[in-house]
Amino acid sequence: MPAGSLAVRSGHLEPFSFLDSSHDPQLSSWVESANRPGADFPIQNLPFGVFRGGPSCATGVAIGDRILDLGRGAQAGLLEGLGAPAIAACTAGVLNPLMALGRKHWAPLRKRIGELLRAGSGYQAAVEPFLLPMAEAVMLPPAIIGDYTDFYASVHHATNVGRLFRPGNPLLPNYKYVPIGYHGRASSIVVSGTPVDRPSGQSKDPAAEAPVFGPTRSLDYELEVGFFAGPGNALGQPIPMAEAEQHIFGLCLLNDWSARDMQSWEYQPLGPFLAKSFATTISPWIVTMEALAPFRVPAFQRPDGDPEPLPYLNAAEDRERGGIDVTLEVYIASRQMREAGLQPMRLSRGNLRNLYWTLAQLLTHHSSNGCNLQSGDLLASGTVSGPSPEERGCLLELTQRGAEPIRLPTGEVRKFLEDGDEVILRGYCERDGFTRIGFGECRGVVAG
Ligand code: CA
Repeated sequence: MPAGSLAVRSGHLEPFSFLDSSHDPQLSSWVESANRPGADFPIQNLPFGVFRGGPSCATGVAIGDRILDLGRGAQAGLLEGLGAPAIAACTAGVLNPLMALGRKHWAPLRKRIGELLRAGSGYQAAVEPFLLPMAEAVMLPPAIIGDYTDFYASVHHATNVGRLFRPGNPLLPNYKYVPIGYHGRASSIVVSGTPVDRPSGQSKDPAAEAPVFGPTRSLDYELEVGFFAGPGNALGQPIPMAEAEQHIFGLCLLNDWSARDMQSWEYQPLGPFLAKSFATTISPWIVTMEALAPFRVPAFQRPDGDPEPLPYLNAAEDRERGGIDVTLEVYIASRQMREAGLQPMRLSRGNLRNLYWTLAQLLTHHSSNGCNLQSGDLLASGTVSGPSPEERGCLLELTQRGAEPIRLPTGEVRKFLEDGDEVILRGYCERDGFTRIGFGECRGVVAG
């Protein structure tokens, strides 16, 4: 079906002219679980991940509660006609080569995978041998992540946190001009389901004369979205706004675990260090920019009186559709809750569209000094918080630095995370006239 008829049916011709037949809500898969209402991985999504398949790693695509083993499928000829680079990238066992290829290869690959999995397309018998149950797979980090950068793109988070530490001056004057970020640690990025050890470090009680070294007493999560670099840029060659999204492969959920007592002692004057570098958890499935196309929205509306972005960060198309409407939720399940068979309790619900800076602006800014991004680099949004209290994306904000503890269904209270607590991030996109897609989950238990 041409994009035009889809756009006409949804009644939004102009903004949706970038859609194609892969977004058609009428499409269904012969994998029945993909068609269930509320499924995260319908045929309109098709996120990429890497799993352990036998003795080696394999590239997979999520469909319902199954994984399509793209590596073995490609070797068996399922991707015939796509060209050698795309087929080779799908058999690499890690996503960096596919990320490096760019959109001219991603789009035909998405189309081909959609054909293979579509109900009535005649491929079921040929493809079924390459499906495995997701529940039986071990997911691995999707890419070799050379570098990891974490931003601070939510003005609500920056203001809420600033107010706790500097009540009279919550937002520093540079915030509305320059996207703030820091270089994180790539080696400690782990995939969902990996337990996280409580880190030890220095902290100093305000009333004490000297710091002490020991396990953090204020372990926190941060609700974030990560995005992976597609094709890189050469050193010394900045990426302009007009090309920024061509350099983004896709998005995942990300938990930037944070030790607040260590952070408040070490962060001045150079920013976070050991309070963040002990662990970062990502969800295993990367939702592509193509899959997110129906959920694009205008960039965050800057309030009257805020400065315009400087010209190198300002682009009309980005203002019109630089935002992405992703609902983001955080849940907690303490050990007691799990033992009692209780469901995880929701702590917050926010939306990625509330970011002050778009992903394109973050990526363009990152490269604006000539810094080279490489395929598989991970960039993250920073804690996603919104204007209302239920949209606060970390415990530091939710409990007001511990002053307003949260009560769990077991009667336990939390200022910060305790050993045995599991934090679960979920994300999904919904829009009238389109099929809901989801990110799956990003889980981590505090070991101990
Ligand atoms: Ca962060």
